[in-house]
Amino acid sequence: MIEDLISISTLMICTFLSTIVVGIFMLQVWLTDRRHAAAGYWCLSMWVGSVCTLLFALRAIGYPMLTVGFANMLATLGYALMWAGFRVFDRRRAYPLVVLAGPVLWSAAYLFVPQISADVNNRIILSSAIISAYSVWMGVDIWRGRRGERLPTRTLSAIFFLSHGIIYSLRIPMAIVSPAPLGNGTAHSAWFALFSLELFAHTILAAVAMLVLIKERGEALYRQASRTDALTGIANRGSFFEDTRVHLAARSEGTLMIFDLDRFKAINDTHGHVAGDTVLKRFSARISASLEEGMLFCRFGGEEFALFAPRHDIARAEHFAERLRQDVAALSILSEGREIGVSVSIGLADVATFGADFDRLHSAADGALYAAKEAGRNLVMRATPAATLSGFAERMRSPSASSTGIAAAR
Ligand code: GH3
Ligand code: MG
Ligand code: MG
Repeated sequence: MIEDLISISTLMICTFLSTIVVGIFMLQVWLTDRRHAAAGYWCLSMWVGSVCTLLFALRAIGYPMLTVGFANMLATLGYALMWAGFRVFDRRRAYPLVVLAGPVLWSAAYLFVPQISADVNNRIILSSAIISAYSVWMGVDIWRGRRGERLPTRTLSAIFFLSHGIIYSLRIPMAIVSPAPLGNGTAHSAWFALFSLELFAHTILAAVAMLVLIKERGEALYRQASRTDALTGIANRGSFFEDTRVHLAARSEGTLMIFDLDRFKAINDTHGHVAGDTVLKRFSARISASLEEGMLFCRFGGEEFALFAPRHDIARAEHFAERLRQDVAALSILSEGREIGVSVSIGLADVATFGADFDRLHSAADGALYAAKEAGRNLVMRATPAATLSGFAERMRSPSASSTGIAAAR
């Protein structure tokens, strides 16, 4: 009854058309940006699948070597290429041996094992085993990829492939318990019709999942780039503001540190802009290597950097900053055989004293940094409310006047 309702040939023609269309989209994605190597594999997989389903749809005309043997080989190759695409997508190795294993196993069995070429149920058992293995493997790989990259559609895609692998493997016990008779050159039974319907639905879902995953990967990369400083690879000012404000809204503690490299203009003038860039990279790498859990560090702009230590009170933060100052002073950076001397001044302001308003904290830390510059550079200074007020007033009167009342550590 169901087998009369669901026409296998019509399903195959629908699958043929949809895989052709998805293949065109995949090709376009791949041609637009060759970094999407997975789209190249998936495009091939779709087109191999479309030729396969077209041949399946033509079973009634005969030529079993073509419409059965070759078509099933293409089915396994299509899944193997899809598997390779997911491996490449997650930057894992796509072993050529694994890609070839399914198609070669099928071809050898079809050509040399008469029980396979002569019996539709044995063919169902073999092709289902191969396709289920690729599907389950893909599902597991997609699931495992969540650890490195949390794309919204990952879990759903993993479920699609795992469930397809499991459902497809159920064709094996069905072919043993309730062998399907032949009709129009293909298996003709209710269960086979239902499994073919599931195959069609899964092909559509898999194609949509692949396109969405590529789109989500692109969005994640752009989001990441918009939060990163291009020269140093650390966070930029915007993302630092955002993250620090989130922290300050949740917990009223921590210390903000503002760093400014000393006499950096002179480094550029003496050693050149490229050497200056190297200093910025080495500096940010040195500080990044010393960060403790939960600390936020960014390039504020130019040769200015900021660090928010969420669990450090002012005394602990001062100690930490002093260690960083010494580390930076000890950096050995060579430019054309000449050593570049680097030092940094650091201004600190803590939440316990200045409150959780970021702008207030920033301006206090900035005032302390200004005082450190005035006091001779290569210094760590903490802001105090009195010093911040008088420093501000003095700077308003005369930008070159020195601040008073700011504690120095050296
Ligand atoms: P101070 O000790 O008072 O901070 O002196 P300074 O020379 O470090 O400060 P100043 O603000 O006079 O100069 C900062 C210099 O940083 C000027 C600018 O050309 C340079 N600079 C800003 N961004 C970059 C960058 O991305 N790469 C390089 N190489 N230089 C930069
Ligand atoms: Mg500066
Ligand atoms: Mg400077």
